[in-house]
Amino acid sequence: MRGDTCEIPIKSRANRAAAGLKVSRGYTVDVEIKGGCLCRAVRYRCSQPPLNMGVCQCDRCQRQSGSAFLMATVFDAHAVSVEGELKVYEARNDQGAALRRHFCPTCGSAVMITLDRYPEIRSIMGGTLDDKSLLRPSYSLWTSAGQPWLTLPGEIELHAEYPDGAVG
Ligand SMILES: [Zn+2]
Ligand SMILES: [Zn+2]
Repeated sequence: MRGDTCEIPIKSRANRAAAGLKVSRGYTVDVEIKGGCLCRAVRYRCSQPPLNMGVCQCDRCQRQSGSAFLMATVFDAHAVSVEGELKVYEARNDQGAALRRHFCPTCGSAVMITLDRYPEIRSIMGGTLDDKSLLRPSYSLWTSAGQPWLTLPGEIELHAEYPDGAVG
């Protein structure tokens, strides 16, 4: 992905395997996963465990998160319901496919990413989960754009950019 979007979510285990990414495992979530923005005007519920979790260190995700990386928790779209108003910042890649960053217009919290390429998933920002003990990222994208002082634990798969084969 060389355009002005990055694509954290990878829609299926098959795609992830094709991209050489680990599939998140070890989750036993038998209750709803809930979360929301800082001011609580936006709340969401996820009825299934996440498909995968990762971080993105691309410049765009650093800017939106205001931090060294953005943490994405990827869910099946059918499992996610949102209450409250989200505003959207949309960017398109060279092929015209949109990546939409949904945020709370009141407090500015980044809440969710949706993508034209993967309409079947919702990428929820990890820091908005009520129970952040669920967060176990298994991969990082765009380490080539990362902060030089950031070293991630060894079990997290590192990808210099977006792995070949996972997009398109
Ligand atoms: Zn808010
Ligand atoms: Zn990114």
